[in-house]
Amino acid sequence: MKTIGLIGGMSWQSTIPYYAIINESIREKLGGWHSARIVLYSLAFDEIEQCQSSGDWEKSAEILGDAAEKLEQAGADFILICTNTMHKVYPQVSKRVQVPLIHIADATAEQLEKDGCKKVALLGTRYTMAQDFYTSRLAERGFEVLIPPETDIPLINRVIFDELCVGQLKESSRQAFSGIIAGLRARGAEAVILGCTEIGLLIHPEDSVLPVYDTALIHAQKAAQLALENDTQG
Ligand code: GLU
Repeated sequence: MKTIGLIGGMSWQSTIPYYAIINESIREKLGGWHSARIVLYSLAFDEIEQCQSSGDWEKSAEILGDAAEKLEQAGADFILICTNTMHKVYPQVSKRVQVPLIHIADATAEQLEKDGCKKVALLGTRYTMAQDFYTSRLAERGFEVLIPPETDIPLINRVIFDELCVGQLKESSRQAFSGIIAGLRARGAEAVILGCTEIGLLIHPEDSVLPVYDTALIHAQKAAQLALENDTQG
C-alpha cells in the first residue's frame, strides 16, 4: 500500500473528513484492521487566508510547496491539496515535487464523466467560482460550468469562511445554499459540485434538488483507490 501525503488544515474542519473517508475506504476494501498510510502536513490557515485576501498567491504557493516537499521527504508516494481554492497554485506546487499531485477537479470530473453529466453547477469560495483556475480546468474537459449569480457570491463566501471554516453549521445557511442550488437547476444544471471542501459538512444529498458531487469525499476516495493501485498517475 502506498503512503498518501495530505496538505491539510485549510480549514482543519474539512481535513477531518479526509482522514476518516480515506481510512474507511481502505478498511472497506481490505477489511480487518486495515487502515491507510498517511502523512499529514496541516497548515496554519490564518496565514493562508491572509495570502488569499491580500492576493499574495505567490507566498501561499511557497508555503504549500514547502509542505509538499516535506511530505515527499517523509515518504509520500502522492500528494493531495485538501482544498479547492488552493488549487490556484497547483502548477507551482506540483513543480516542487517528483511525486504526483492529485488534482481535486480532475478527480471530480472523472466522477461526473462516469455519470454522464455535462452541465454542472459549481459552489465554492469566491476565488474558486469567480476566477478561472478551476472552471477552466473543467471547461477543458468539456463541461459547461454554471456559477451562482453575482449577488449570491458574497453570501456563499461568507458562510464558507465565517461559519464552515470555524465549525459552525447553521440551518439558515443550509436553506440559503439549498435555494441557490434550486436556482442553478432552473438554469439547466444537471448536478452540483460542492467545490469547497467544507460545504459537504453543511449540504447533504437530501438538502439538494441536484445530485451532489462533494469534492472532499471524491478526492479522499480517489486517494484511497490510488493507494491500493500499482501505478500512481496524477
Ligand atoms: N476548503 C475550502 C475550499 O475547498 C476553502 C478554504 C480555503 O480557502 O482554502 O476551497
